[in-house]
Amino acid sequence: MNADLAALYQSVILDHNRRPRNFRAIDNAARAEGHNPLCGDRLTVFVRIENGVVEEAAFQGFGCAIATASASMMTERVAGRAIADACALAARVEVLLSPDGDGAADDLGSLTALAGVRQFPLRITCATLPWHAFIAAVRARGEVL
Ligand code: ZN
Repeated sequence: MNADLAALYQSVILDHNRRPRNFRAIDNAARAEGHNPLCGDRLTVFVRIENGVVEEAAFQGFGCAIATASASMMTERVAGRAIADACALAARVEVLLSPDGDGAADDLGSLTALAGVRQFPLRITCATLPWHAFIAAVRARGEVL
């Protein structure tokens, strides 16, 4: 990754950390908590599902810049997708963040900004936490895949 691209990716994360999207609770929604004791991240993810579609996702809690930015991007990217599609996206993000995840970057758009954490193994959990919590919330609602 060249320096300009790295800077662009960093600006995406900084922007989402500074102005997190969908930072709120959703009443009567499926929810799951994600906790990363190594960093102190503790987020609750809310997912409203109607007719097999993720109508809305949101989060609350405390997280570092990586966890907050990842959660913010997650809420934007899963909304409007069928459950299976949203869960497949979460799985792809997990591959993207794994040590040899380069091939997963295709067409993930701004989510590839998260791939920078691969250089910092302890931070990978920060980035994957909101996506795991999303899947846990979907499962908690009984939408098992
Ligand atoms: Zn963290």
